[in-house]
Amino acid sequence: MRKRDIKQKLQIYVLFQSIVFPLMLLLFQIGKKSIFIHVSYISIVLILVILIIFYLSIKILGKNERIDELTTLKNELTNEENKLQKSYEELSSVYEELAATEEELRSQFEELQKSEEALRVSEERYKLAVEAANDVIWELNMKNGSFFISERWKSITEYSMNEDLNLKEILKYIIHPEDRKMFLQDLKRYLNKETILYQSTFRIKCKSGQYKWIYNRGKAQRNYEGKAIMLSGSLTDITERKIIEEKMMHLASYDQLTNLPNKGLLLKELQESIDNILESGIDKNIAVMFLDLDNFKKINDILGHNYGDQLLKVVAGIIELCVGETNYTSRIGGDEFLVFLPCDEDCSNIINLCETMRRMFNNPLEIGNKHVYTSASIGISIFPKDGMDVNTLLKNADTAMYRAKNSGKNKYCFFTNDMREEVMRRSEIEKGLRTALENNELQVYYQPQINVNGRKLVGFEALLRWNSKELGWVSPAEFIPIAEETWLIIPIGEWLIKTVFTQYGEWMKKGYSPFTIAINLSVIQIQNKDFGEFVRKIILETNMVSKYIEFEITETILMESLECSIELLNKFRELDIKVALDDFGTGYSSFNYLKNLPINTIKIDKSFIDNINLNSSDKDITHGIITLAHKINKEVIAEGVEEEGQVSLLENMQCDRIQGYYFSKPVSLEAAEEMLKYSNI
Ligand code: C2E
Ligand code: MG
Ligand code: MG
Repeated sequence: MRKRDIKQKLQIYVLFQSIVFPLMLLLFQIGKKSIFIHVSYISIVLILVILIIFYLSIKILGKNERIDELTTLKNELTNEENKLQKSYEELSSVYEELAATEEELRSQFEELQKSEEALRVSEERYKLAVEAANDVIWELNMKNGSFFISERWKSITEYSMNEDLNLKEILKYIIHPEDRKMFLQDLKRYLNKETILYQSTFRIKCKSGQYKWIYNRGKAQRNYEGKAIMLSGSLTDITERKIIEEKMMHLASYDQLTNLPNKGLLLKELQESIDNILESGIDKNIAVMFLDLDNFKKINDILGHNYGDQLLKVVAGIIELCVGETNYTSRIGGDEFLVFLPCDEDCSNIINLCETMRRMFNNPLEIGNKHVYTSASIGISIFPKDGMDVNTLLKNADTAMYRAKNSGKNKYCFFTNDMREEVMRRSEIEKGLRTALENNELQVYYQPQINVNGRKLVGFEALLRWNSKELGWVSPAEFIPIAEETWLIIPIGEWLIKTVFTQYGEWMKKGYSPFTIAINLSVIQIQNKDFGEFVRKIILETNMVSKYIEFEITETILMESLECSIELLNKFRELDIKVALDDFGTGYSSFNYLKNLPINTIKIDKSFIDNINLNSSDKDITHGIITLAHKINKEVIAEGVEEEGQVSLLENMQCDRIQGYYFSKPVSLEAAEEMLKYSNI
């Protein structure tokens, strides 16, 4: 029982008494004595009982309180004991930690000793490396400006280590003036963290005055703000590498034969000059001149490649002399040269230059023991009038050069707008030609050849015709040169030969007597190594009788690619194919060559036949050609015969065959067959 319980019971008792006592007083007042006595007895008993309980409660209460105190004491003791245990445990773990730390400290101490040793060895090694290194090692303290540089510096620059190595002085006197700006820029960019490594290439002037190329690289130690406090690195002497690089640059940018800049370098320089003018906005003109030697191929073929090379060197010297060193002259390939230079408003300086060159080429050039004549055709385009960019200027100068060449060589020609139209027409033709074969736009026309004795049809010349969907009929004189330049003449020529041989087979099957079929060959076909083999195969394939084939080669083509021509002519002879020399009289007309070459027929050019009635010298020349040709066993055909008078004259001169509008224009396949029907063959 607790104090609270006893208190409660006492409170109940007092409450009880406070009810019973007034009740008893009331009973006593109202005279209910017996009830009063009974209630008094009960109350006394109750008081006694309560007193006993109270006494006992106090006794028990005291005992319980002691038990409680003892329990609390015991609990406190247990707590203290736990705390002690915990402290003990903590103490022992601290002790263990202490022991471990001591162990660690010992091992760290040993480690430190080892590191110190390693550092010493490393420092030693670094010192040796710095001393023995091929590079110069340097270190710059950015805080106090102190500068260390290794001994190797002396062997590269010849400056002794004691000499003033103040960085500013070095920059001022040793670094090449052209490289100083770049040197400082590289450094600034690295310090501003724009580059991850500091590197710079520059030239330094050695004590002897000689310049050496140096490659400098380094790295910085930075503080917590990222500011460089120490910069260290190495300097490498790269002079030899630079020399090799420069040599390679020279090889890549200069023509080995003439030592002139090559096309790549010239175009770069031209582009830079154009850019400068455009940027500055100043009204300036540039002339781009395209020069092509007129007879170089012939000289090369006749006098040999070595001689040709010597000639190119001399020509390069002449051009450079006329143009002047401050302007740009380049050999862009073979016998082609390109020049660009500032041009006066009226182009008078360019005209003077072209005239000077012409005069220079009027004199024979002495190479070895031989004298040789050469000349150049020059095409000129002007920036900005004829083009704003390099490619257009070059293309237009090239076009003007062709115009110069076609108007008689040894000429110069300025680009004009009508040539621009010509260029556009050319590109349209080229585009159309690329699809002409697959679109079946090509046809073969046949022009009869007549035997003078008896005026009988003895053959046909096969002539290409092109009826383009876009351009209409295009003359072979216009499209064949383009087909040659684009090499489209190879597939077109093969198609023509195959078509003609197949047609010839058809005619033979129909029972017509055999006749000669003449086919024109272009220079590209002749230079094509596979051409002879192609002809052999196609003869087999179409069952063509080779002795009726007559390939026409112009004498210019023959002479300009003499080496391949002779090989091919021999192959034709082996195959029993005849060869005619077309347009004879317009080129070299050398009988000396003719007599030794496997050529069967000479075809006198229309330009002689035209005036045979009017001009006695043309008549004499034609007569002379026929007589000489017969002497060396060659047959003669006259082409472009248009009048009866010409026919009778040629008859008298004993010309073998005649071809021309007088008899017939070139006709279609069907019309040619009609002719076969009504001729006696
Ligand atoms: P070419 O081989 O000298 O051909 C003769 C040219 O003269 C032909 O012109 C022909 O039509 C023309 N002609 C013939 N007789 C007369 C005449 O009496 N008066 C006039 N005014 N002209 C006459 P075409 O067909 O226009 O051919 C021109 C040139 O085109 C040919 O000259 C030839 O060099 C070339 N050519 C034509 N077809 C071919 C071919 O299939 N292959 C190659 N590589 N060139 C061809
Ligand atoms: Mg011909
Ligand atoms: Mg001809």
